[in-house]
Amino acid sequence: MYLKRLEILGFKSFAEKTELEFTPGITAVVGPNGSGKSNVSDAIRWVLGEQSARALRGGSMADVIFAGSDGKRAMGFAEVSLVLDNSDGALPLDFTEVMITRRVDRSGEGEYFINQVPCRLKDVQELFMDTGIGKENYSIIGQGRIDEILSSKPEDRRALFEEAAGISRYKARKREAQRRLEETEQNLLRITDIIGELT
Ligand code: ATP
Repeated sequence: MYLKRLEILGFKSFAEKTELEFTPGITAVVGPNGSGKSNVSDAIRWVLGEQSARALRGGSMADVIFAGSDGKRAMGFAEVSLVLDNSDGALPLDFTEVMITRRVDRSGEGEYFINQVPCRLKDVQELFMDTGIGKENYSIIGQGRIDEILSSKPEDRRALFEEAAGISRYKARKREAQRRLEETEQNLLRITDIIGELT
């Protein structure tokens, strides 16, 4: 699996539709200061579900929408699509190409799509679990992230190793099962109370 293409429209400094093609191996993005290099990695993190405006170097989520610049009007929405080559089947989907899309408008209304089919953020997160690609994972190391990892609490650092070892998916499922178990226990308690009152 590798990142094949990134399509950006209305995201940060990308007012016009911009398509970046990647090939396997190393790609370097070069350009003058402030030209938008980090905005490319922000776009990748955002489409993968980043929810923190601060992590995207903004004050609010609407800051990711192109705010206008000399002669160009501000945009009403931002849309990023990330296309992955999945010919090795690393992602559990029956497609050789997988496209993840995220769109947001100024009202804050957001949408996610997997291969153009609307889905939930949770579906995107689950798709990438244990692949190391999720927004918090080790495949995207932003400026200052190495220092952050080195100085983070051991339990936070452990999450990175768990992702690499492929056990995050099971931990997430365990959490979900425990939550359902607790709900069921509460329901049982309520039913026992009602039966007690009736008998
Ligand atoms: P450096 O080399 O200094 O790290 P860079 O090439 O990584 O710079 P970025 O930080 O990616 O540059 O881009 C910063 C530019 O993006 C600034 O010019 C800023 O005005 C512009 N920008 C950020 N958000 C928006 C937005 N919402 N609308 C328009 N332009 C934006």
